[in-house]
Formats: sequence, C-alpha cells, structure tokens
Amino acid sequence: MKQVEIVIENSTGLHARPAKVLVNLAKQFKSNISIQHGAKRVNAKSMVSVLTLGAVKGSLVTLEAAGEDEEKAIQEISSAMRGGLGDVEPPAAAPREEPPAEASVSQTTAKPLKTADAPAGSVTEAGKSDRAKNILRGIGAAPGIAVGPVFHFKQMELDIENREPPPGSLSLNEALAQAKDQLKVLYQRMVDRKLAAEAAIFDAHGELLDDPELVESAQERVKKGENPLSAWRDAVEERAAAIGSLKDTLLAARADDLRDVGRRVLRLMLGMGDKGITLPDYPVIVIAEELAPSDTAMFDAERVLGFAIVNGGPTSHIAILARAMGLPAVVGAEEAILKLEVMTQVALNGNDGTLAVSPSPETLARVVEEQRRWLEERRTAQEQASNPAVTLDGYHVDVTANAGSDANAVEARKKGADGIGLLRTEFLFLERTTAPSEEEQFGVYRAIAETMQNLPVIVRTLDIGGDKPVPYIQMKPELNPFLGERGIRLCLNRPDLFRQQLCAILRAAPHGNLKIMFPMVSDVAELRRAKALLEEIRLELNLPAVQVGIMIEVPSAALLAEKFAPEVDFFSIGTNDLTQYTLAVDRGHPALAAMHDGLHPAVLRLIAHTIESAHRYGKRADICGELGSDAAAVPVLIGLGMDELSVSIPSVPTVKAQVRRLRMSELQPLAKKALECASAREVRDLVRQELKM
Ligand code: PEP
Ligand code: MG
Repeated sequence: MKQVEIVIENSTGLHARPAKVLVNLAKQFKSNISIQHGAKRVNAKSMVSVLTLGAVKGSLVTLEAAGEDEEKAIQEISSAMRGGLGDVEPPAAAPREEPPAEASVSQTTAKPLKTADAPAGSVTEAGKSDRAKNILRGIGAAPGIAVGPVFHFKQMELDIENREPPPGSLSLNEALAQAKDQLKVLYQRMVDRKLAAEAAIFDAHGELLDDPELVESAQERVKKGENPLSAWRDAVEERAAAIGSLKDTLLAARADDLRDVGRRVLRLMLGMGDKGITLPDYPVIVIAEELAPSDTAMFDAERVLGFAIVNGGPTSHIAILARAMGLPAVVGAEEAILKLEVMTQVALNGNDGTLAVSPSPETLARVVEEQRRWLEERRTAQEQASNPAVTLDGYHVDVTANAGSDANAVEARKKGADGIGLLRTEFLFLERTTAPSEEEQFGVYRAIAETMQNLPVIVRTLDIGGDKPVPYIQMKPELNPFLGERGIRLCLNRPDLFRQQLCAILRAAPHGNLKIMFPMVSDVAELRRAKALLEEIRLELNLPAVQVGIMIEVPSAALLAEKFAPEVDFFSIGTNDLTQYTLAVDRGHPALAAMHDGLHPAVLRLIAHTIESAHRYGKRADICGELGSDAAAVPVLIGLGMDELSVSIPSVPTVKAQVRRLRMSELQPLAKKALECASAREVRDLVRQELKM
C-alpha cells in the first residue's frame, strides 16, 4: 500500500472538471485507490464520491493506492493533482455565443405555423373583443411563430412509494444499460448539431451512471431485499443530498444532474420509456419557469410547437438548443406566463419575443400571414445572400461571419458572408494536451485565407484564460478568471506561444487577405507591446505588413477609444464581454441571462463613443459580439455608424436582408433616441415602435 499527502491547489477545489480528470485517471489502474479528506475516505474511481469530499482549495488530502500497480498509480495521480488536473475551473460554464451552423437550418426551415386543434373549450370564442392587446413579453430566442394551447411543464413526480416495478419492466441493471444508451443517442444528437456544451451535459450524465459506488450501493440495497425502485432512488438521493449539502452553487448543479439522471433510470424501471414528462397527445406550447437541456432535447416536434420560459436569455444553452431544433422560443418572459390557464390558446412569436394570449380570429389571421411572410423573407434572403447589404438610401454595411474553424469558413462563404469578421483561433488550442506547432497553425490559417479567396479574414490572436482554460498552459489558480490573465495579457506573458502564432499568421497572410486582431486589450501599453513584437517578427521574416486592430470589449478601451484609434487600423467591438464588464453580469450566468443585454444604453454609449473615435481617425469600426445578429440591434448599430457586422454564420443572409429594408436617414435619429433610453427594455420597445417590428 502506498500513500501520499497532497494540498489541493485548484481555485475551486476538487470540482467537477478536475474531479472528472482524477477519476478517469484512477480508473486506468487496477489498484484500489482512495482519497481521504478529514475523516472522510472515498473511492477515487467514483466521481460522485470524490465530489462529496468537499475538498476546497488548500485542503490537505491523502491519496492511497493498494494493488499491483500502486507505485505507478500514486506517482501519476499525485503528479496530475499537483499539476492542477487540467487546471482552472471556470466559475460557471459560459455558453459560447456562436450558434452552431445548424441553426441556419432551423432559421430558414423553421416549421411552418401550426394552429393546433386544441380540444374544445380551449379556443377563444369568436366574436369576443380582440384580446390580442393581452400580449406578454419576453425575448425572442429562436425564430418562428406557433399557435396552440398552453401546457405547463413541470417535472413529473415519480410516485414510487410502496410500489413494485410493474410486471415485465426492466431490472435495475437493464434500466442502467438503457439509460446509458439513451444518453449516448442524446450526446450524438448534440454533437451532430455541433452543440458541444449540451453534448457535454449528456456525456457527464452517462459518466454518473458508470459510477461504481453509486451503482454498487443501489445493488447492495436490492440484495438486502429492498425494492429496486426505492433502492435506486435512495442511493441517488443520498449522494445528491451529500453534494448539495456542500452549499456550493457549482456543486448544486451536479446534484441536480445526479437527480436528473436518477429519474431517467427510474422512468425506465417504471416502464415509462424516456419521457421525463408526459406531453398531451396534441400539439402544445410549453410554458415553464425554466427548462433543462435534457428536457428540451426530448421534445417531440409533433407535440411541442414552441416554448416560452421565464428564465434564460437569448445566448443561454436552452436558446441555442431551440434554434438548433427549429422550435420557436421566447425566453426571459414575464412571470405572468406561469399563471396562464392550461389550454389557453396563445400565439408564440419567437421573432419578436411575444406571446399573444387568447388571440381573436383577426389576430390569428394576422399571425398566420406574418409567419407566411417570415418564411418567404427567409427564402429570399438565402437566394440573395451573396448580394451586398445596402440600405434603401445607399449606405453599405459589410456583413461578415464569426468563424471558429476551416469548416466554418466554407459554411460562411455558402451563406454569402463578405468575409470573416472574427476568426476565433482558440479552436486550434482547446481540447488537446499540447499547443499546436507554428506549422500546424500556418496550415490552418493558410487554408482559411484560401477558402475566403481574398475576402478579408480578421484573425484574432489567442483568447484563452477566463472561461477558456487549456491544460498545457500552467496558470496560477485565479479567484476570478474573467478578471484575470486572459486574452492579450496571457499572450504577452508567454512570448514563445504568442510569437509562434504571430509567425504563423504573418506567413499565411500573403495567401489571402488576413488581418490581425488582439483580444481583451484594456490599456494602450498592451497594444504597443503586441505591435512591437509583431513588427519585430515581421522584419525577421521579411514579410509584408498586415492590418492590425483590437477588440473593444473592456470598458476602459471603449472609453479611451480615441487614444487607441491612431494606433490601429480597425476596432471590432466584442459586445459579449463588453456587456459583461459594463453591466457586471456574468455572460454565462443562467439566472442573469436576460440582464446580459447589449442593447443596454450604457453599452450603446460605449459603442457610440468607439465608432465616433474610429471615424475621427479614418478607421473602421465593426462589431463581432452576438448583438450584431440581433434583429432589434441591427438598426441601432447601423444608425450609430457601424461599418461592419460580423454575425453568426446562419444569420448572414437574414442580417443582409434586414439591412436592405432599412433607411439610414431613419436609423440615425433612432440611434440617438436609443442612447437616451434608460434600459435595454426601453431600447427594444423604441425599436419595435419606430420600425414597426
Ligand atoms: C465578445 O466578447 O463579444 C467576443 C466576440 O469575443 P468572445 O465571445 O470570443 O469572448
Ligand atoms: Mg470576448
């Protein structure tokens, strides 16, 4: 038997991500491996047990191995633990804003409007006064319109008290195996839709079902004569309660995951198949306070016409999932939706984020017409995608795409993008154990430059740290990584890594039209240091100069834009981070998602100042945050003078089409008024009223 003592250095302790790395490593050894923290000793091959240890940063734990490979196990596991087990755990999973390429499919082929044949009594009687004024509002999260009866989604209570599994139903082991199969299917479905974060949820659920301690505990109970239903429920609940009792919001989410996956197995044992909830056998509009991705992924397109939820924002996982599934959706809706009577007829509009309650026949006819027009517009937008985006009075706006891979660049061209306004190079650096070589990077940048055939490609240098840690870059644990060593700060502190990337971009540039952009710049000195290094490399390699710009995503950079402008060729405004830092709202916080709105006048004033400063020095101002794809924001941004909108790939045709319907002479006064509003909601109302959107 071998033992070693280790101090946990991870900022968030033995949290989900490091715990997963630890458990997977431990599983590779034959020896029995355990970890002790205080009086508690647990099996290191059990994720659930490791989580319940409650080992926070600074905890002293004892790693113990007993068996044929104990020596090697102790050596490798302790060294991985000292190395941070994949390092910094971000405080909350931040959804990436880039909707998957598939979202384009849902946006252009969202299902046609269905008016559900709701059972008698559910539809407004004809002749009643038009109650369409009865509009409940939220934020349009996935486009499309649907009309149908309200169905309130609540997680079904599984009543198993004193209940034996129904005859012929699955045993615990069979249910576990089937649940794992279901999760694999869900995982693959998400991977196919390029929904990595959602795929990870189902992957994690699958791992929980592989947890030896959990499964053995339930099996032991069955052996002792306990009913398999309650044996499983109690084994799950015991552990979920232990994790939940650690009073840690991140772990609370793991406890919820465990209960969620536990219910999946129970449903199978109860012969309920894979349904977390029994939906009526006619199509409905689902209303809920919140929805888990696992609930939404199970929605059957024949029965769920769309959904409205109180929580969540337009960039939340649930919104991205809805877009990928082609389900019209409203998020951040007024709480009044929860009070709607079941079966009330509603018209859900995922385009403008409204829910018309008990619409009159006239309103219904209008909604049907709107949906028809919407589908027609999308079709035309796609047909005209490669035409330039020029307003009715001749103002030209470049509409480029945000890309994160070579495949994205191909897709962006198909969608008619005028270039790549933001190439997130992180894709080359994440999900691997060593940094990509200069040659590898050169190959990829060159391929993208060639794909875009001289259309501009803005290559953003590495923006990791913060929400995007990578295992091979050792970073000291940070209490607040979003305010830590990320973006340009990290690159300037690692000149070797930075140099390699700059060399690769400079070498690839002559193969197309590449420009370089530095992320997270907050101070002019950072820009100067980065530019000096770039120039040094360029002279060494004797290569032509490329245009250089910075992201404006930190309020200090926006406020001092006139100081930066003379030293750059362009600005690109990153509203995802700019909004986060201006409003003090974590961009990935699920409960605050509705507050993370870049149309907030405080953010708009920073954008306006940035554009003015750029233009004063004859430089371009672009936007590459998600706000540029938001139909309500496009008129305001153009009115403020934005030269280019770099949007999610699926949005390119629709944003271009929208620009063609606008008139700059109306947008400038609109933008001025927006700057005088007091809230994002006021700005959205203003745009809706002025442009009759
Ligand atoms: C932004 O912050 O708006 C942005 C585009 O950068 P990222 O989303 O990659 O942080
Ligand atoms: Mg950013």
